[in-house]
Amino acid sequence: MVSTLQSPITRDRYDVIIAGARCAGASTAMLLARRGLRVLVVDPASRGSDTLSTHALMRGGVLQLHRWGLLDAIRSAETPALRKTTFHYGDESIEVEIKALDGVDALYAPRRTLLDSVLVDAALAAGAEVVHGHRVVDLIGAPGDRIRGAKIAGADRRVIDVAADLVIGADGVHSRVARILEADHEYTTSHTAASIYGYRKGLGLAGYHWFYIVGASVGSIPTNDGDTCVFILLPPTRFENDRHQGLEALYHKLLSEVSPALASEVASSEGSGKLRAFAGATGFLRRSAGPGWALVGDAGYFKDPITAHGITDALRDAELLARAVVEGGDDALAGYQATRDDLVKGLLDVTDRISSFEWDLDEVKEHHFTLSREMKAEVDLLRTLDQEFVAPPAVVPPTTR
Ligand SMILES: Cc1cc2nc3c(=O)[nH]c(=O)nc-3n(C[C@H](O)[C@H](O)[C@H](O)COP(=O)(O)OP(=O)(O)OC[C@H]3O[C@@H](n4cnc5c(N)ncnc54)[C@H](O)[C@@H]3O)c2cc1C
Repeated sequence: MVSTLQSPITRDRYDVIIAGARCAGASTAMLLARRGLRVLVVDPASRGSDTLSTHALMRGGVLQLHRWGLLDAIRSAETPALRKTTFHYGDESIEVEIKALDGVDALYAPRRTLLDSVLVDAALAAGAEVVHGHRVVDLIGAPGDRIRGAKIAGADRRVIDVAADLVIGADGVHSRVARILEADHEYTTSHTAASIYGYRKGLGLAGYHWFYIVGASVGSIPTNDGDTCVFILLPPTRFENDRHQGLEALYHKLLSEVSPALASEVASSEGSGKLRAFAGATGFLRRSAGPGWALVGDAGYFKDPITAHGITDALRDAELLARAVVEGGDDALAGYQATRDDLVKGLLDVTDRISSFEWDLDEVKEHHFTLSREMKAEVDLLRTLDQEFVAPPAVVPPTTR
């Protein structure tokens, strides 16, 4: 073990240590630092790096960025404003205009290189210490006992003990913090979808487009730098059976099967970077709070990306958790989990039904109406949260490493 003197971590005690500096971790850090807490965030990934995600934000996510004063940073990076979303069920198309409400008049799909950087910058500006290239390797305190800090290692694998009143795992779907804590799954889903996505330049489709046929789905999501993310979603069994064809072949075959119109747009556009694949992962709701610890984002609650809602979830739960931390005490943390669970059970359930691919076009349309009601309930809750809590403090010097 080494002391903090030999490490970029400046203190040996913080109010809160957070593992993970992306949408869940950086947001939670920013909100806590804005309330004056001493916060350390560590992440092995490098600052501004990309991650597996098609990065579409729903209204709740955009509303959070607006409420936190960060939407202008996303807009000023020329992230396209998406003013409608179109669902295509076979030959039928349903267009939904994005209504102006609470300062949100468009949806956005910022690349994660942008969104996660904006959140990290905001955490730094609020006074949080964000240290990349470092990870939580263990916790101080055994599962079941109060957690009193974390053991943190840098790239050189030297481990330091850092004390904290609270350790938050925002370290993603394979959360090490959750595993160390033996935080059990309270609920798991039955279905998953596999996906392949890539980027095209010069695609002429405005807004989000989601296309469905029985057994598969494809879509397009305009993002930064003139790129549009084009994805396919399919049952994991078909993905496993057909992947020997190669990702490119499977991707273009499914695009043509589900939407010849989108396939032809793609064929006449320029590719931008490599295709990326996700084989699917089971959704879960995990016990997410205990003495001296909490989980937020995918670490505590993961659902299939088919409903493109994980980032919006993370931004919502970051604030619910930050409020509970500032309120203080184990009961407040338990309340965070209870509020989250109430809000997300419906989302998790309808996502599971959509990712089953066991629907006809009328049924999947019905699932989307249910999804829309669940998202409205989420936005209604966010609208009740007071603005004062999330306001930036007077100027605090940033600490960057
Ligand atoms: C293929 C795919 C497409 C998706 N598309 C969408 C979409 O369109 N819209 C949407 O809203 N959501 C989408 N999602 C989901 C979304 O990406 C996640 O819900 C979101 O990234 C969760 O954020 P997070 O901060 O909880 O975790 P992550 O983004 O996974 O970040 C976790 C961070 O923790 C760090 N970490 C890991 N271990 C440690 C450790 N021991 N110590 C410290 N740090 C650690 C990692 O390096 C990482 O940076 C998609 C997901 C996938 C897989």
